Amino acid sequence: MYDWLNALPKAELHLHLEGSLEPELLFALAERNKIKLPWHDVEALRGAYAFNNLQEFLDLYYQGADVLRTEQDFYDLTWAYLQKCQAQNVVHTEPFFDPQTHTDRGIPFEVVLRGIKQALVDGEKQLGISHGLILSFLRHLSEEQAFDTLEQAMPFRDAFVAVGLDSSELGHPPSKFQRVFAKARSEGLLTVAHAGEEGPPEYIWQALDLLKVQRIDHGVRASEDERLMQRLIDEQIPLTVCPLSNIKLRVFDDMRRHNILAMLERGVKVTVNSDDPAYFGGYVNENFAALHEALGMSEAQARRLAQNSLEARLV
Ligand SMILES: [Zn+2]
Repeated sequence: MYDWLNALPKAELHLHLEGSLEPELLFALAERNKIKLPWHDVEALRGAYAFNNLQEFLDLYYQGADVLRTEQDFYDLTWAYLQKCQAQNVVHTEPFFDPQTHTDRGIPFEVVLRGIKQALVDGEKQLGISHGLILSFLRHLSEEQAFDTLEQAMPFRDAFVAVGLDSSELGHPPSKFQRVFAKARSEGLLTVAHAGEEGPPEYIWQALDLLKVQRIDHGVRASEDERLMQRLIDEQIPLTVCPLSNIKLRVFDDMRRHNILAMLERGVKVTVNSDDPAYFGGYVNENFAALHEALGMSEAQARRLAQNSLEARLV
């Protein structure tokens, strides 16, 4: 890996903790919890990581998350990710967790949150990595279920800084969650949302106007709407872009067609993130490296992208 990339201090603003579950840890947790897996070994599981779209990935992702059962499991998952951050000079992270992925299969909310939060607190003390945790709602579920999750989370209000929206985008526009986001804001929480990955630019408008988000997660389809592009530039609304994810899930056919550097040059506040690194082939630095190799990203551009990530922090 490039030394100059490693040397850049960076923040990661789009990372699903459940998506950082590496096959080796997945197998170790399955053994610890005596869970039988449908894959024979780590290699067979890696072989299953070929996706045609977001939904195919999500099906595997939810299956993998099933090995996470105890507070220690969530701690170990988060700790493994923080060690990657340290190795790559990610000095601040704002990860997502999806409580509904776990509470829907009978894992208590507090088991999930305590394991994750303890690792983040230890990471701050022992590794010097600061954080702001984001509670993300699954958009393929109902707004009613999101309200239930928010209510479960309120006794732990101080443990997280924002709510987000992820999972299957198409057919689940931000407008579906307008009321629960308003409730979260009334509790003093900040807001972000995935929009404009597979969904149209209209979903980005909705995230901004109806959910009042501070940042857009992905947002790469904004380039199809000139008026929206101008607004992103004028208001300096950050986009948390995930290049390797976009290729793996076929948002772009080829990294050489990715629009992140074109957006950067136009003055959009784009950042580089890994999304679900265990599934998409790399952490933050591998994403930067892919932009260097496929798009000729210069060191100066990398420095601006890293600076954007530090400026786009919620906390
Ligand atoms: Zn994501």
